[in-house]
Amino acid sequence: MQPWSSVPVPQVPGTPSPLHLFDTAAGEVRPTEPGPVARMYVCGITPYDATHLGHAATYLAFDLVHRVWLDNGHQVHYVQNVTDIDDPLLERAERDREDWIVLAMRETALFREDMEALRVVPHFVGAVESIPEIVEAIGKLLASGAAYRVDGEHPDIYFRHQASGNFGYESNYDEATMRDFFAERGGDPDRPGKEHPLDALLWRMARDGEPSWESELGAGRPGWHLECSVIALNRLGLGFDVQGGGSDLIFPHHEFSAAHAESLTGEFPFAKHYVHAGMIGLDGEKMSKSKGNLVFVSRLRGDRVDPMAIRLALLDGHYRTDRSWTDDALINGSARLARWREAVALDAAPAAEPAVARLRERLSDDLDTQQALRAIDAWADETLASGGSDRGAPQLIRTAVDALLGVEL
Ligand code: ZN
Repeated sequence: MQPWSSVPVPQVPGTPSPLHLFDTAAGEVRPTEPGPVARMYVCGITPYDATHLGHAATYLAFDLVHRVWLDNGHQVHYVQNVTDIDDPLLERAERDREDWIVLAMRETALFREDMEALRVVPHFVGAVESIPEIVEAIGKLLASGAAYRVDGEHPDIYFRHQASGNFGYESNYDEATMRDFFAERGGDPDRPGKEHPLDALLWRMARDGEPSWESELGAGRPGWHLECSVIALNRLGLGFDVQGGGSDLIFPHHEFSAAHAESLTGEFPFAKHYVHAGMIGLDGEKMSKSKGNLVFVSRLRGDRVDPMAIRLALLDGHYRTDRSWTDDALINGSARLARWREAVALDAAPAAEPAVARLRERLSDDLDTQQALRAIDAWADETLASGGSDRGAPQLIRTAVDALLGVEL
């Protein structure tokens, strides 16, 4: 997959604040402790529809993780996949009588544009380009006994969910909850021939009319959890710093991604932190395709909304909280952007160091963006109300807001 164009991130004078994040597996906020190179994997989109604000909010949260690590002097190796082969993509292509590859390429390109406009800049890897690695991993899982083939017309390959010996540590769900989410989120508990309802698909043998890839396993295509597992393992190595995604990925997706990788390597844990972003609703209702109430980033951009205002609107809420998108959120984001721009355009202002210190301190505490924004609000309000004499202050705020919040003033 083509590399993204990179967004320059300036250095901010002063003292950075080490990042703490809530870890789903531990159930508490813990310090991140990356080495010189911080390593993060975030589950990406399935490109069958345009990027909606729920996606944008998730990727903004991890973009802030990226930025706070950079501020702390780490290099960041950030990998995000694009699930460019999966059932929802094929179903949408079928419904619209479109070639699934054309659909995936078009929506991936639009996603890329949306993310560039929002100044989110990871490195993307497609699942399709990773199939040889995935096939190799399945061979290993079969050889070690962690995987098996079902009997019957379609001898698909499944993962013995208990194979790693640690299954369940990431979500901490009991089995009843696991079974509910497994059925709800793409699992196949009733598939005949499986040893256990929770065993997860690794390789689906070719069916008529479905795309498939020739391999030593027989023609077929990979299961979703293993795609992420292998892409992360082969690019970041086991024990990377953050595995991220939306809260709907806690189970089964992240539990299985971890279990697959831990079975493949015999080591633990897959990631040091499992970090999950809340869902975005619209006017109090869950945003979903079935309700037809998705708000697309590209639609807002088409309406000439400044992407920086979208960014500020989404950051004015805690990333882990399920929250609602409203017209007011966008109005407030636009007003805040205008006020900040007005303040940094002045020749002089009150000293900016305390506001920047507060911005860093709040972001490092599990990305408390609401209070981080208020630190800059307070400086901007004071600047616009009574001015100041520090001629370096406007530029310092501009640099800090750019580097740490990704907002270009
Ligand atoms: Zn994933």
